[in-house]
Amino acid sequence: MKNIVLFGPPGAGKGTQSAHIVQNFGLIHLSTGDIFRDNIKGGTDLGNLAKGFMDRGELVPDEVTIQMLESEASKRTGKGYIFDGFPRTPAQAVALDSFLASKGQQIDAMIALEVPEAELRTRLAGRAETSGRPDDANPDVIQNRIDVYHSETAPVAEHYRSQNKYKGVDGLGGIEEIFERIAVVVAALSETA
Ligand code: ADP
Repeated sequence: MKNIVLFGPPGAGKGTQSAHIVQNFGLIHLSTGDIFRDNIKGGTDLGNLAKGFMDRGELVPDEVTIQMLESEASKRTGKGYIFDGFPRTPAQAVALDSFLASKGQQIDAMIALEVPEAELRTRLAGRAETSGRPDDANPDVIQNRIDVYHSETAPVAEHYRSQNKYKGVDGLGGIEEIFERIAVVVAALSETA
């Protein structure tokens, strides 16, 4: 079992790289952003609750997010998970650790995509052209997501750093090039398991 947190600010390329990791390593992709968007599309109570927070670039409350993540993870088991966009607060990280521990598992690594802020803004503005995501279309909302990342999410890196699980990866360059860097880290995990 390999359980990986793919970490990084909005626009760092977590979703894109997750797809490559799934294809090459057969892990199960759990993206809280995708699950919320599916719920919004389906008009569920959860989607209705999440929508306001997402449209403003705020985090959906921990309790709701943690419960949803655990329920999705319990439905899908396999060779391990790639967590994308979760945990996004220290409380979510603590909850994830104990959820996995209850199944005799753990996070093996946090792979953190490191991308300068100016590049994030350029990428998100570009993505707005095709993503149809309201939170990509508005510069104020993008700024809020970046601010929330610094204030609420960045401390999650310390959580895994203190467990010696933080692996920084340069997130600048071509998609394949960045994936190669990630693949080296994932392959090294498999060797030591
Ligand atoms: P990005 O990384 O580009 O911001 P995501 O799809 O990961 O995109 O997240 C979109 C939005 O979904 C976030 O701004 C937030 O409102 C909500 N969200 C996603 N994951 C979480 C989470 N773990 N905790 C709280 N809110 C979340």
